[in-house]
Amino acid sequence: MSGPGATDPGVDFAGITPELLARYDRPGPRYTSYPTAPHFTPSFGETEYRAALARAAATPDAPLSLYVHIPFCEARCTYCGCSIVVAPHRGPEERYLEAVERELEIVAASLGARRTLSQFHWGGGTPTYLTPAQCERLFGAVMRHFRLAPGAEVAIEIDPCVTTDEHLATLRRLGFNRVSLGAQDFDPRVQEAVHRVQPLALTRHQVELARSLGFSSVNIDLIYGLPFQTDRSFKVAVESVIRELAPDRVAVFSYAHVPWLKPHQKALENLPMPRGWEKFRVFAAAAESFLGAGYRFIGMDHFARPGDELARALEAGTLHRNFMGYTVLPASDLVGVGMTAIGDVGGAYVQNEKNLARYERTLAAGGLPVERGLRRTEEDEMRRRVIERLICTFGLDFAWVREQFGIDAPVVFERELAALAGPAADGLVEVGAGGVRVLPRGRVFIRNLCMPFDAYLAGDAGKTVYSRTV
Ligand code: SF4
Repeated sequence: MSGPGATDPGVDFAGITPELLARYDRPGPRYTSYPTAPHFTPSFGETEYRAALARAAATPDAPLSLYVHIPFCEARCTYCGCSIVVAPHRGPEERYLEAVERELEIVAASLGARRTLSQFHWGGGTPTYLTPAQCERLFGAVMRHFRLAPGAEVAIEIDPCVTTDEHLATLRRLGFNRVSLGAQDFDPRVQEAVHRVQPLALTRHQVELARSLGFSSVNIDLIYGLPFQTDRSFKVAVESVIRELAPDRVAVFSYAHVPWLKPHQKALENLPMPRGWEKFRVFAAAAESFLGAGYRFIGMDHFARPGDELARALEAGTLHRNFMGYTVLPASDLVGVGMTAIGDVGGAYVQNEKNLARYERTLAAGGLPVERGLRRTEEDEMRRRVIERLICTFGLDFAWVREQFGIDAPVVFERELAALAGPAADGLVEVGAGGVRVLPRGRVFIRNLCMPFDAYLAGDAGKTVYSRTV
């Protein structure tokens, strides 16, 4: 193991005790952005977004990322924490597609000659709520304005319950090369409790079909902390995922129980749900199975096969993080299109309308449906990159800080580094003359180790805006 900032495969679950967990299991950001979304403000509106797009247009050769949000789902899973539109009957998506087409037109015109996508992602909701013909229409609308860079990452999230063979064949033909399947858990009791019955055989069929069609990467999303889950039951599910689906990447997300924000989650309240240490043991059981099968711990809740690009980027210290999670692409502008979509453009974050009718109405009137956003300051930029570096390399090299920002980290971050004394005493991190190094026991708590560098957190005290560590 070399100096600060280097990476190693070690993550120490066995060294985490109930007392240690209790000290660090608290609400905190997941740092897919910095400053984080609760700090976006309505004073950032359409005018500011248009100015941000104009700044992004000034570098026409730089590649772009594009995210398209499709908010519809046929029914609501009781654990869902997303902003979605429940639409059991088809119809509303036609009007929505028209609105998205308008938004694409305005955004593309504002970006001038900047039209090359290195990353193109559809998320939701359920993108495959759209029929194959509608998927083709949406993809065509994007391609009227943008082109894919050679080797571009073209990814889609699918719900196997509503995805057909025809969907997968169409998506592959259009150019999608990565697919992410939501799975949660394969225990029938858990699936019934969360109103999402999805047999393993169905999921396996789609994984096999995706591979035979030539999708180069298959990701599975699991969730821990759901009713009836125990470390033993989840281990059984995870081992069947490894054995029968053999995903290239896996996300094991923590269920965030926030019934005051998502009232439908109240349906789960009378069911036995693992919490605290029990919940952590469910995660640890999954993690131990993935590590035992040779997967690498990428960070927070992600695992990848050693040959996967994410694992290679972690090794090389070239991993990045944005609203889509971990990525191998360097941070470039990310344009978000669709209801609630978040973008990162020209040094500013921007989030679209969360209300479907308002989103569509604004576009029908020729406007951009911005709900809120934030223009980053120079200090925000620096802290954002420091936090990203910590999350993506499990370290912070002070020489790198000096080279990037011309500052002396031990002086400028004196308070932040002092706040790491407790975690250092707990064996989570080492702070030396050359930098910060996250130790194997601290990797699970990487969010906590980033939090001292977050200048906005003090203002969040007492607000329930973030999920807990586990
Ligand atoms: S399919 Fe996904 S987005 Fe839709 S309700 Fe279920 S969890 Fe939420």
